[in-house]
Amino acid sequence: MTTSNVQAVTNVADSEQEGIFYQEQHNESALFEYAFNNQLPVLIKGPTGCGKTRFIEHMANKLNKPLYTVACHDDLTASDLVGRHLIGSDGTYWQDGPLTRAVREGGICYLDEVVEARKDTTVVLHPLADNRRILPIDRTGEMLEAHPDFMLVVSYNPGYQNLLKGMKPSTRQRFVAMRFDYPEAEIEQEILIKETGVEPRLAGRLIELAHALRRLEDNDLDEVASTRLLIYAAKMLKVGMKPLEVCRCCLAEPLTDDPQTIEALMEVARIYF
Ligand code: ADP
Repeated sequence: MTTSNVQAVTNVADSEQEGIFYQEQHNESALFEYAFNNQLPVLIKGPTGCGKTRFIEHMANKLNKPLYTVACHDDLTASDLVGRHLIGSDGTYWQDGPLTRAVREGGICYLDEVVEARKDTTVVLHPLADNRRILPIDRTGEMLEAHPDFMLVVSYNPGYQNLLKGMKPSTRQRFVAMRFDYPEAEIEQEILIKETGVEPRLAGRLIELAHALRRLEDNDLDEVASTRLLIYAAKMLKVGMKPLEVCRCCLAEPLTDDPQTIEALMEVARIYF
């Protein structure tokens, strides 16, 4: 594994974290649990910062299973997932990658932004994501049968995928798929209050603004303000920062570099703050 991936591998069940806060949107927890109990892989699609990762952390915690998270990027290869031989003082030795550990020991392997990964990763994912549930490791000659508690979860953001990067039908048809989106106003307000302790009135106003910004048509934005950005804004409002300054640095500047678009967003912000 490359060092940048090492940090991305976490083990929620082993960690001290108890009761990770997750606000249910529909019936996603029950669906996920059903998939886990029936050894079905899950695909979650949705825009950035809408709660995909938080949901999986919450489910791993609820099911009391280790979670191996890998943030995929365009240099990520099958070896980063499966493992590789390393050189130590006593010669070479084999080190399992995060996917192999989850397959061997049982646990949830979450590949975030899976469409970013190199295409050779599909070769290892396919036999794991259908009823074979096996991981052939060419380098060691092993043919691993997945632990009964192994679950493969992948996510991607359909919004900014170009057609070439989209998932191949033969891959996506191996998954139970769930679509996530930014929560409805009441739920999102609840999330802001629980995550940051911001006053409900301020949270409400922030949500009204965010929903107005998300409805803006003809804007030049690739993406709208995420729940994550609203949480940043709520944290700053809570400690008394000037609301318009907060709107600029949390809800306008992170979304675009175009000064005119930023001004257009700020005009809307001035209606609410
Ligand atoms: P994604 O993986 O979709 O990019 P995250 O799961 O990291 O997004 O969500 C970003 C932040 O938004 C989280 O850290 C959490 O604070 C908050 N969040 C979003 N949705 C929820 C939710 N349903 N319940 C609790 N927190 C949420």
